Amino acid sequence: MKLEDFSLNTKKITRIIDEDDFCSGRTLKSYLSSRVEQIKPSGIRRFFDMANRVEGVISLGVGEPDFVTHWSICEAVIRSLEKSYTSYTEIAGLMELRKEIAYYMNSRFQVSYSPESEIIGTIGGSQALDLSLRTILNPGDEVLVIEPSYLAYAPLVTLAGGIPVPVKTTIETNFKPKPEHIKQSINSNTKALILCTPNNPTGSFLNKDELEEIAEILIEHDLLVITDEIYAELTYDETFCSIASIDGLRERTIIISGFSKGFAMTGWRLGFICAPEGFSQEMLKIHQNTMLCAPSITQYGAIEALKNGQQYVQEMRKNYQKRRNYVVNTLNEMGLDCHIPGGAFYVFPSIRSTGLSSEKFAENLLMKEKVAVVPGNVFGEGGEGHIRCSYASSIEALREAMKRIKRFVESSCLD
Ligand code: PMP
Repeated sequence: MKLEDFSLNTKKITRIIDEDDFCSGRTLKSYLSSRVEQIKPSGIRRFFDMANRVEGVISLGVGEPDFVTHWSICEAVIRSLEKSYTSYTEIAGLMELRKEIAYYMNSRFQVSYSPESEIIGTIGGSQALDLSLRTILNPGDEVLVIEPSYLAYAPLVTLAGGIPVPVKTTIETNFKPKPEHIKQSINSNTKALILCTPNNPTGSFLNKDELEEIAEILIEHDLLVITDEIYAELTYDETFCSIASIDGLRERTIIISGFSKGFAMTGWRLGFICAPEGFSQEMLKIHQNTMLCAPSITQYGAIEALKNGQQYVQEMRKNYQKRRNYVVNTLNEMGLDCHIPGGAFYVFPSIRSTGLSSEKFAENLLMKEKVAVVPGNVFGEGGEGHIRCSYASSIEALREAMKRIKRFVESSCLD
């Protein structure tokens, strides 16, 4: 079949599917999973599509490092290819990788996991989250999601058959959850809490004392916690503490992490899970049927990142910290109330002083000043009245973006 014929055929298929009465009286809807139907298209997409159509945009929208992966990591992959290491690996990942992860988690964050039975290499933190939720949820189980939150949590809970229950945070507490708000959201159907510190989109960071307060509630109500530690390497004022290191928490904790953010390896798609054997061995049943294993070449790169990557991580961290300080100060100076985020590479200033909704602010800023940010309302409860700006851009780009945002804020206050 020629390519032109193929595209003609797909057009025909699209036309048939678009019709309501598709194939002997069945509608398209009747073929779709009701779980998928519950998922709304991502609110962030609309902005990226819009931003892509405008020329000369400075994007503070995307959540990924502007640094490239350190060349020594790429070289490790080249060496593995020269040796033709191109096969499937063990389902949980190369043993050498799991040993390095075990050593790294222990030396860096004081949590101890067995490489033999408690660590799984995954396709990004994204698959790690999906795998964890699908392993623990039954229909109707409720999962507490601290909002504003990473966009994928609620849809992934729904797809796994659970019900996401938002726990709202606000700028008044620097977007840290109040223990009483967590308690109020718990009922007999609650199974787990998803925690993300440092947080996307707010950059909020929970220290050991704050985690201990949450841990107490989890123990009292016998809940699990999925802790998303993808930004653990990027904390600026206090050292990172994993909730799994707190007394009594290890057995009820599933750690999600990965290489995308801290090691600037988003496109490599490698993440990992550390969880007690009882959970991780069950996760492997899903993993072996859906993925077989994480990409092998990526695993060789990750081994190098863990062995020799800390200096590069430290340089990136210092750089982000400078940019954070600059962006927070500048936004506050122009009257956009901005808390100091303890980690990740996002700021989440309030735009209430402009009188605009977060969508309108983001849309007008894009059209008038060609700066792309993400409206806070897409991140769930507590997000309206804010925008998310990523400072993972060069300081020159950030300076220009801040100049444009200032001009926009001044003009919109005059409108
Ligand atoms: N968790 C959080 C909080 C994130 O921000 C992201 C990526 N934006 C992920 C998980 C997924 O990361 P990846 O799949 O690239 O490891």
